Amino acid sequence: MWKVKDGPAYSDPYQGEPMQILIEEDKCCGAGQCVLAAPEVFDQRDEDGVVVLLDAEPGADQYENIRNAAAICPAAAIELRE
Ligand code: SF4
Repeated sequence: MWKVKDGPAYSDPYQGEPMQILIEEDKCCGAGQCVLAAPEVFDQRDEDGVVVLLDAEPGADQYENIRNAAAICPAAAIELRE
């Protein structure tokens, strides 16, 4: 729990615009790193392993995992706007 001095307490310190997640399926090589980093947000298609976005509007508690997923994606197939 975060608390601003002499102010209200917040369970979520994120106060800005929600994160936008853009996937480029054509780039995805099915490595699955994003699923390991953020399993609540990314999955892979059974037939070819291409990334699937499970949650287009994830909570702020997922942002760090999503940033990690984008950073380690070997195909640079995940773009974040925040
Ligand atoms: S880490 Fe990148 S290349 Fe691998 S499945 Fe996820 S989006 Fe595709």
